[in-house]
Amino acid sequence: STPGGSRGRKENILVTVRLRPLSKKEQSLKDQVAWECIDDNTIVLKPLSHDRSSSSVQYTFDKIFGPTCPSEVVYEEGAKEVSMSALRGINATIFAYGQTSSGKTYTMRAITESAVNDIYKHIENNSDREFIIKISALEIYNEVVRDLLKPDSGPLRLLDDPEKGTIVEKLEEETARNIEHLRQLIGICEAQRQVGETSLNDASSRSHQIIRLTIESSLRENSSCVKSYVANLNFVDLAGSERASQTNAEGTRLKEGCHINLSLLTLTTVIRKLSDGKKSGHVPYRQSKLTRILQLSLGGNARTAIICTMSPALSHVEQSRITLSFASCAK
Ligand code: ADP
Ligand code: MG
Repeated sequence: STPGGSRGRKENILVTVRLRPLSKKEQSLKDQVAWECIDDNTIVLKPLSHDRSSSSVQYTFDKIFGPTCPSEVVYEEGAKEVSMSALRGINATIFAYGQTSSGKTYTMRAITESAVNDIYKHIENNSDREFIIKISALEIYNEVVRDLLKPDSGPLRLLDDPEKGTIVEKLEEETARNIEHLRQLIGICEAQRQVGETSLNDASSRSHQIIRLTIESSLRENSSCVKSYVANLNFVDLAGSERASQTNAEGTRLKEGCHINLSLLTLTTVIRKLSDGKKSGHVPYRQSKLTRILQLSLGGNARTAIICTMSPALSHVEQSRITLSFASCAK
């Protein structure tokens, strides 16, 4: 498989599943672990968790990370290759998908940190090239786009650029001076993220967050063969995948929930279409802000990693099954 070559679209999407451990609260409520990882690829619903309608519930994926699996391993096997392709000029996106409190933010923060470390390791080891790393970050909340690097800015508009595709008007972009500076900027974005409280998890967010690194590089000398690369690497922490109706949604919450579903529904449709591997068929990128913004980093030659996070708890089995069926469609 050659980058930028003739990979099938299907091969361009890596789908993995990560289970978190039972939380203290779940333990104190005597919730039980409903799932068993039989091996690296297979997860089954334990017999105790079966409802009458299901006999044997088993799912197989490229990779399943169990509750004790460290984030470094999740990065190495679930996101590294995709992330590093951005160093060679290939747009890449890493998603965390799952219900609120399943571990999306926990996972994405660790993945972003590991990828940043690897990018700077690569820069050190490739001193013949000059690298420029830029960062921008945004949040989509209620289908409204907000700058996470410039907190006081108002809602941002999307514009269609004939060359760059959809761009976010006036989105702040900062050039990182070094790894410490980049970490600091990422910290600012994370602190700015809007937090909405739901009945499922007080600290969870109902917004989609995108941290985008733009990685440019070119050879310093011997410009007879100037080989320049530029690509985006997107880290996407999605809003909770649960339906609005299950979070006691009312009033504004319901409105937010509807919009979240629009972006998530469109994303799932886009990913399902892409993983079909067929060239035919309309991919509805333009139906939501999330998919418009990510269009050039999804499909085509772009690489995508989706880490589906799930709670192991018996009380969350229904949502976990929804997550696993999304994961099955995506792979
Ligand atoms: P989400 O972003 O999906 O709502 P979080 O990432 O906030 O979920 O995780 C919910 C809670 O579970 C947090 O307290 C987080 O620290 C913890 N957690 C999530 N994943 C893991 C994990 N793999 N190992 C240990 N703790 C985890
Ligand atoms: Mg979160």
